Amino acid sequence: MPINELPDSETHRAVAANLDSVGNAIAAAARAVNREPEDVRLIAVSKSQPMERVRAALMAGHRVFGENRVQEASERWAELRPEFSGIELHFIGHLQSNKAAEAVALFDVIHSIDRPKIAGAIAGEARRQSRRPTCLLQINTGGESQKSGVAPRDAAQLLAVCRDEHGLTMSGLMCIPPVDEEPSPHFALLADLANRLNLPMVSMGMSGDYEIAIRLGATHVRVGTAIFGRREPRQ
Ligand SMILES: *Cc1c(COP(=O)(O)O)cnc(C)c1O
Repeated sequence: MPINELPDSETHRAVAANLDSVGNAIAAAARAVNREPEDVRLIAVSKSQPMERVRAALMAGHRVFGENRVQEASERWAELRPEFSGIELHFIGHLQSNKAAEAVALFDVIHSIDRPKIAGAIAGEARRQSRRPTCLLQINTGGESQKSGVAPRDAAQLLAVCRDEHGLTMSGLMCIPPVDEEPSPHFALLADLANRLNLPMVSMGMSGDYEIAIRLGATHVRVGTAIFGRREPRQ
């Protein structure tokens, strides 16, 4: 039965079972290419999910979560963080400069640095708040005009600006392939670029394609629906 139709009492069991099967699939995909399962981190994407499902993942022992709206995430995690220790929060959405303060206060990892202005805003807040978020560059591998991300050929230059001008801790790259294309070439491009830039974190792969992403070198997969079920429409 789809998780959305379950009564609350069964939500916890369903989320725990999904976490288990996604975890097993991650391990199998890693082993298939002679990688260690522990070298792939599962980011459970909790955006737009009802609180009870997120709580279910926490109670099942999961601690790494992804969100794409600063405001929504602030409210949710203000409630959950005091209840569970060791929570690690990843920001995976488009970031606006006027949300930099809140984002730096809340998130441990920011996947979506894509322009000098936001790098400067994050860096300024990091200094003010004495925080050191781990940062990734978002790469627009498909060259889509409506999508965030820096072009692959401009990545090295933006990386240098982030590090040298702003002193950010730059650790990796992320991408969201075009929805209507086969993801493999995009994943291969991202992994290759990360390798050439000497960056250890490669954030790619979602519910429909995380196993492919792992085979092509993902170190962080961002999985929402396959863990929590279909998202609630946003208000
Ligand atoms: C929503 C989202 C995901 C998760 O998508 P699913 O298909 O539900 O797994 C991953 N990455 C980003 C950037 C997202 O916005």
